[in-house]
Amino acid sequence: MTTESAAAGPPYKRLMPSFRQRHDVVVVGARAAGAATALLLARHGHDVVLVDRSSFPADTLSTHQLARPGVVQLRRWGLLQAVLDSGAPAVRQVTFTAAGESVTRTLKHSAGVDLLVAPRRYILDTLVAQAAAEAGADVRFGVTVEGVHLDDAGRAVGVYGHDRTGAAVDVAARFVVGADGLGSRVARAVGAEIIEDRGAPGAAQYAYFAGLPWPGIELIAADRSFTGVFPTHHGEACIWICGPTADARDARRHAASREDAFTAYLHRTAPELAVRLRAGRRMSPVTGMLRTPNYLRRAHGPGWALAGDAGYHRDAVTGHGLSDAYRDAELLATALHQALRGDLDPDAALAGYQRRRDGALREVFDLTVALAGYPPVPDFVVLQKKLARALDAEAAELAARPPLSPEDEHLLTTA
Ligand SMILES: Cc1cc2nc3c(=O)[nH]c(=O)nc-3n(C[C@H](O)[C@H](O)[C@H](O)COP(=O)(O)OP(=O)(O)OC[C@H]3O[C@@H](n4cnc5c(N)ncnc54)[C@H](O)[C@@H]3O)c2cc1C
Repeated sequence: MTTESAAAGPPYKRLMPSFRQRHDVVVVGARAAGAATALLLARHGHDVVLVDRSSFPADTLSTHQLARPGVVQLRRWGLLQAVLDSGAPAVRQVTFTAAGESVTRTLKHSAGVDLLVAPRRYILDTLVAQAAAEAGADVRFGVTVEGVHLDDAGRAVGVYGHDRTGAAVDVAARFVVGADGLGSRVARAVGAEIIEDRGAPGAAQYAYFAGLPWPGIELIAADRSFTGVFPTHHGEACIWICGPTADARDARRHAASREDAFTAYLHRTAPELAVRLRAGRRMSPVTGMLRTPNYLRRAHGPGWALAGDAGYHRDAVTGHGLSDAYRDAELLATALHQALRGDLDPDAALAGYQRRRDGALREVFDLTVALAGYPPVPDFVVLQKKLARALDAEAAELAARPPLSPEDEHLLTTA
């Protein structure tokens, strides 16, 4: 047994001889990517431990509109109805405004869904983690992972950390999944390098408002900005502004508070919305990310894999992070299932996961980076149209996938 601590040396340890029970998979991070991966693995009958340092329900830094591909995944997994039953309004109308011209459309029925939804993360993530627990995953909150155990051959064989009381926690597993978001401890521990870095030019800020009708999603493209309204739980809407980091910082420099800066910025990016909001109430502080990185990490190595933001981060301007996480959770769960069942060599299965992930994310990643550069409005609108086509194609591809397990097939018929 080594005595290296995370602070004193590299955040990994050799396998501790005290490991008694070895699980199939330990997943670090229990939100979009982690809870979905654990859910799907558990439905395949695998022995999964899912850990998160938070205790759910807990919020996280994110707006939360699910693009159609994400809605398709929830439906395929039999969870969409539970999300709607939680009080997240079904959104059937989208208004897109560019250069002062607005077009309102009703959502078409496509890829098995005729609605979008923007559930609060503390509700959505809790529902998916609960579903994972109901499927048999061992879900442990309040567990902070500090590093990854490696065997003598350098293969990941578990994780170590501590619980809320400070007591040491060790989980041994045949595979370690890092679904621990931007700043992933697992990615650092295994040395998962960045394989494509596209910079971090964009910012996204948001706050919740109440007291007004929210008939649908609103998207407003203007010079160097994209602003929007996502109707969500409790009669509130998430009001957000995406734009260049420099503009967001500039707005803050010229205001006494974040809230004043947001209001002033909104008057520039979406003046009609800013005036309308005067009749409502702001229900939360303004929060957000002022510098949003766009990069891809290597997604696998001996005994480990990364899913969601841990392996792939992109600007929020396309609102696609949850959909990415749900898509890749399924790709990874399928690869791990093949490896655990002995159908495929583990390294080949995980290499296949990365290949599929890198192929599946490419078009939307490129569009995201282009949109986050905030070209002139006509070009921004052309990119938005390309994005809409890419999302439709992705949703159709996901909807055409076979159910993952007999349980999914049954759930799909009742969703
Ligand atoms: C401002 C903003 C707006 C966004 N808007 C949208 C949107 O509208 N639609 C959309 O689809 N996407 C949006 N996104 C992106 C989306 O939030 C992410 O892509 C998504 O949360 C990724 O999910 P994840 O499970 O990979 O990671 P996360 O949601 O970051 O979850 C990681 C989890 O890992 C846990 N964790 C971290 N480290 C450890 C550790 N050491 N030990 C144990 N647990 C750990 C954390 O507690 C957390 O629960 C937005 C992002 C931002 C920043």
